[in-house]
Amino acid sequence: MTLPRAVSVAVLGSTGSIGVNTLSVIAQHPQRFEVFALAANSDVETMFAQCEAFRPRYAVLANESAAARLAARVGDAGLDCEVMGGAAALLDVATRPEVDAVMAAIVGAAGLASTLGAAKAGKKIMLANKESMVMAGPLLIDTARASGSALLPIDSEHNAIFQALPANFARDMDAAGIRRLILTASGGPFLHASAEVLAGATPDQACAHPKWSMGRKISVDSATLMNKGLEVIEAHYLFGAKPEQIDVVIHPQSIVHSMVEYVDGSVIAQMGNPDMRTPIAHALAYPQRVEAGVKRLDLAGAGRLDFTTPDCERFPCLRLAYQALRAGGSAPVYLNAANEVAVDRFLNHEIAFNAIAEIVEKVMDDLPSQRVESIEQILAADGSARAAAAKLASRGSGLAERRAAGGLGH
Ligand code: NAD
Ligand code: MG
Repeated sequence: MTLPRAVSVAVLGSTGSIGVNTLSVIAQHPQRFEVFALAANSDVETMFAQCEAFRPRYAVLANESAAARLAARVGDAGLDCEVMGGAAALLDVATRPEVDAVMAAIVGAAGLASTLGAAKAGKKIMLANKESMVMAGPLLIDTARASGSALLPIDSEHNAIFQALPANFARDMDAAGIRRLILTASGGPFLHASAEVLAGATPDQACAHPKWSMGRKISVDSATLMNKGLEVIEAHYLFGAKPEQIDVVIHPQSIVHSMVEYVDGSVIAQMGNPDMRTPIAHALAYPQRVEAGVKRLDLAGAGRLDFTTPDCERFPCLRLAYQALRAGGSAPVYLNAANEVAVDRFLNHEIAFNAIAEIVEKVMDDLPSQRVESIEQILAADGSARAAAAKLASRGSGLAERRAAGGLGH
C-alpha cells in the first residue's frame, strides 16, 4: 500500500508568531505535511534556522538585502534551497503548482497580494492575515469561490465559529437557522485600566497580552480592541453575517473562543486552552483532526468563565470598526490602513495610545467614500488613507504626547 503524498505547504510569515506555531504543528507530522516554501520579511537568523530544520525548496525574504545575506548563509551550509528576495517572490511561491496549501500569516496589508494570488491559484488558504480580508473581503471570497480554493480561518474566533457551523454552511445565516455570531474578546492588557493609564500607555505595556503571545501589531490591536473590530468585519465577509448579527463579549479567560447562536436557542461554543496551534492544526488537517501539542483543557482547574460587555467609550476602535462595516465601500479599507499607520507610529513612540483611535476616526471622517471592487481601487483607497494617517500622526503627535503626559484634559 502506498502512503498518501504529504500535503505541500507554503508558510508565508514563517518567522512570526503564527508562522512558528504552524511549523511546530507541521514538525509533529512529518509524514503528513511538508514545507515547500518559507517566506518572511527580513529576519535572516530565524529564517536560516527554519531552512535548516525544515529543508524547504524555496525561502523568500521580502527585504532584498536580507535575502542576499540569507542566500550566503544557505550557500555556506550547502542547503538545497533556492533563496529569493522581494515582494513579488511572495506571490511566486504562494502560487507554484507544487503547493497544496498556503498559510497566509504575513501581518498587515503586505499579505494581501499573496493571499489573493493563492486564492486565484485555487490553493487551500489558511487565513491568519485578517487585514487582507478586511481590505478585500468580497474580492477574496469571490476569487476563492471561482477557483474552488478552500478558505479556512486561523483567527481563533473565526476558526471556533467555523467549527460550530453546520457542515454544509454556505454563507447564508438564515438558511442555516443562525441568529447571531458571538465573538469573544479577552479584553487585552488594559481591560481594567483607567483613562489615565490608557492615556500614558507605552508600547511594551500594550504588547504584554495576558493570554496570547503574538506579534506586536496584533498585540496593540488587542489592547485598543481594534483587533476585535477587524474580526467583526472579517466575520461579516467570511460568514455572510450582517453587522447586527455579530456581537462581541469580553471573556478574560480566553477559553471559549467564540459561539454560534441558532434560532432554537442553542448556543454552540468551541473551547480550548488559548494556543494558536489548535486552529492551525484544525485548518492543516481539515476535515480530519491531528494532534497539535496543545495542553488539554481542565475546566475544573479553570474554575470559572466570565463574560461582560465591551466598553466602547474607553475603546472607541471597536465602535469605529462597526461604523466602517455599516458604511461599507472604502470605509473598512480606510479603517485598516489608518490603523496600521497609527499602530506603527505608536510602536515607534511617536504618538500616544489614544491617538490611534483619534487618527483612525479622523481619516474615516475626512476621506470620501470610494468604490473598492478591484484590487487597484482597494490599493488606491489604502494609499490615500495611509497618507492621511501619516500626516495626522506627524501633525498631531505633539497634542497626543501632551495628552499622554496628562497635560491636556478631554
Ligand atoms: P508577527 O509580527 O509575529 O509575524 C509577522 C510575519 O510577517 C513575520 O514572519 C514577518 O517577517 C512577516 N512580514 C511582515 N511584513 C512583511 C512583508 N512586508 N513581507 C513579507 N513578510 C512580512 O505577527 P503574527 O502575530 O504572527 O500575526 C500574523 C498575522 O496573523 C496577522 O495578520 C495577525 O492579525 C494574524 N493573527 C495572529 C494571531 C496570533 O496569535 N499571533 C492570531 C490571530 C490572527
Ligand atoms: Mg483572534
